Amino acid sequence: MAPRMNTAARHVYVHVPFCARRCSYCDFSIAVRRDVPVTEFLDALRSELRARLGETGVRQPIDTLYFGGGTPSHLGADGVTRMLDLMREYFEWSAAAEVTLEANPDDVTSPATLAWRAAGVTRVSLGAQSFDPRVLDWMHRSHSAPQIDFAVDLLRDGGFASWSFDLIFALPASLGRDWQRDLDLALAKEPPHLSLYGLTVEPGTPLGRWSERGEIEASDETGYELEFLSAHAGATAAGFDHYEVSNFAQPGHHAVHNRSYWRGVPYFGFGPSAHGFDGSTRRWNRAAYAAWRDAAAAGTDPVAGSEFIGSGEASLETVYLGLRTTGGLRIDVADRGVVQPWIAAGWASMQDDRVVLTPLGWLRLDSLAAALTPATGFR
Ligand code: SF4
Repeated sequence: MAPRMNTAARHVYVHVPFCARRCSYCDFSIAVRRDVPVTEFLDALRSELRARLGETGVRQPIDTLYFGGGTPSHLGADGVTRMLDLMREYFEWSAAAEVTLEANPDDVTSPATLAWRAAGVTRVSLGAQSFDPRVLDWMHRSHSAPQIDFAVDLLRDGGFASWSFDLIFALPASLGRDWQRDLDLALAKEPPHLSLYGLTVEPGTPLGRWSERGEIEASDETGYELEFLSAHAGATAAGFDHYEVSNFAQPGHHAVHNRSYWRGVPYFGFGPSAHGFDGSTRRWNRAAYAAWRDAAAAGTDPVAGSEFIGSGEASLETVYLGLRTTGGLRIDVADRGVVQPWIAAGWASMQDDRVVLTPLGWLRLDSLAAALTPATGFR
C-alpha cells in the first residue's frame, strides 16, 4: 500500500487545472480546455485519493477545503457537485467548515451558483482582476467587465454570504490602467473579502516574452508601492482588516484555509502540481495534467518530489510567514533591538511580545525577514 501522509492535516487543497485560455501573465500549472474532461479528471482524483489514503471507510475530519487552479468553476455545476461528493467519501466536515471554490466570472451562472451551494461550497473566490475592458483584453482574461457585475449578483442571489474578489495591481504604466477606479468599483460591490496581488513578469508567459522583446515594461517600484498603499488606505477606510500582505477581510470573513499555510500547519494537496505538508515533509505532485492523471490512473501516488523541512528552514519559514500577517512574530526581549529602527521608520510595531509589520513594512518583507532571521537565531 502507498504510504499515508498528512494524517494530522485538517485542511485540504485540490488543484483543478482547467482554464478556457491562458492569461497573459500566468505561469500556473494549467490545462487549456474548451470542453473539460470532467469524468477523466474525477477518476484520476479518485485514484490519487485511493493511492494516498487507501480505500474509503474511515473519513478524516477536516476544517477547510479549497478548490484552486486553474479554474475549478470550469467544471460546471454538475462537475463541482460530483467533486464534492467524491471528497465526502474520504473526508468529513461540518456545516461550519470553509469550502472555497475559485471561479471565473464567466462560469458563474444561476444554475451553477445554486448547484455549488447545494453541493456544500460556502465561499467563492472570484477572479475579477480588473473592471477595465482594455485591461481584461490585455490580460487575455476569458470574462468581460459586465460579467463581473452579473456574477456578483448571482452569488448574492445564490445565498453566498462569503465571497472574495481577486484583483491585480502594479500593471505596466504604459497600459494607463486606473487602479483607483478599479479599486473603487470593487469596493462599491461590498465584497466580504479582497485579495490583491502585484503583477510579476514570469519567464515563458506571453507577458514574459513581451517584456524580453522590450514591448512592455513592468511597473517600477514606486508604482507598485503607490498602488499597494492606496489599496490599503481605500480598503481599511471601507472597514476591511488588512490582515495579510495580500488579503483584506470584513469582520467574520477572514480566509481560514490560507491561514493554515501562514501558520505552517499540515495540509493535504491533491491534483496536478498540488503541494502538501505533514508537519515535517513537504511534497508536491507532478505538475503536468497528463503526467499527474496517468500516474494516478495507474494506481500510484503522483508525487513528483518531497523535502524534509529541517529546523533551519522551518525557522526561516516561521519568520517569513509570521511577518506576512497581522498575527506577527513573537521575538525575545533580547532580540528587540533589531526591530527598533523598523518601529522608528513606521515599518513595524510591537504588540505585546510580537513584532507586526505595517503596510510600509510589508513592502520590505523580504529584506526585513532576512534581517531578523540571523538576529533571532532563526537559522
Ligand atoms: S484563469 Fe487563472 S489559472 Fe487560468 S490562465 Fe488565467 S490566471 Fe492562470
